[in-house]
Amino acid sequence: MTSTVVVLDAERPEGALVDPAVPLVHIDDQGLTRGDGVFETLRAVDGQVRKFPAHHRRLTSSARLAQLPVPDAERCLRAVELALAHAGPGGRGELGAEHSVRITISRGTPEGGPWSWVTVNPVPESTFRQRREGVDVVLLPRGHDPALDAGYPWLLPGAKTLSYAVNMAAQRHARTLGADDAVFTAEDRRVLEGATSSVVCARVRGDRRELVTPEPSRGVLPGTTQAAIFTAARADGWELGYGPLYPADLLAADGVWLVSSVRLAVPVRRLDAQPLPVNPQLTRLVTGWVAGA
Ligand code: PLP
Repeated sequence: MTSTVVVLDAERPEGALVDPAVPLVHIDDQGLTRGDGVFETLRAVDGQVRKFPAHHRRLTSSARLAQLPVPDAERCLRAVELALAHAGPGGRGELGAEHSVRITISRGTPEGGPWSWVTVNPVPESTFRQRREGVDVVLLPRGHDPALDAGYPWLLPGAKTLSYAVNMAAQRHARTLGADDAVFTAEDRRVLEGATSSVVCARVRGDRRELVTPEPSRGVLPGTTQAAIFTAARADGWELGYGPLYPADLLAADGVWLVSSVRLAVPVRRLDAQPLPVNPQLTRLVTGWVAGA
């Protein structure tokens, strides 16, 4: 069960702790019935939320696209801190006590209107295992090129909406194929993003060290983890590339990771059953860049 919940709504504009065991969501809440809402998932370590400004910026941009109100950064942060202050023990990995924090804005009921809530849960052991052991990934066609959505605001391009049924179905499909996760590709086989992550790969050729990710402007979610990794890598003298990436580029890379806020950098061991080089030293470096952000 969710460990802690803070609700921000008309009656509790500053955010109030509520009992997660009592009913909170109305049966005709449009977040529930239509997936009409937006959200962010953040990581907290030893009670401190990470990369909050980047997440609040993306939440604001998702909410604007969906024409939803968003609590301002201060109010949002206070709600997150309140939830974290009352959370149970975090998941115990190598980096401290870790919690997963989720901020959701739902369209709400037709009568009540939009509302927001924050939940906090311990990071599960399965996440720590993925960080340690890596994942097997299959490439799945996205069906249409999301770059084509870019000019149409009603398609909510780049928004992190509650409509994740397709992403969850892709992960289930990956599991039926014996893999752990899915990476979407466009019609021309260009690599887009993971079902719930960004894709980053490293190329090391002598002194030339480069990190590459698919173009964030081409209809993939602009990842806060990928951005934090790239900022730290640049400061460390790495070159940065923004796609296009094809499966052959991933197979030829010196390391490929699925990166996201709670998972951090999970090495990809196999891509469509073909082995990829896994370099624990590189994974530590990339993880260190984002764990410190
Ligand atoms: N792409 C998708 C589809 C995602 O769902 C996520 C995270 O949930 C990401 C990328 C990575 O985003 P972030 O690094 O901001 O967590």
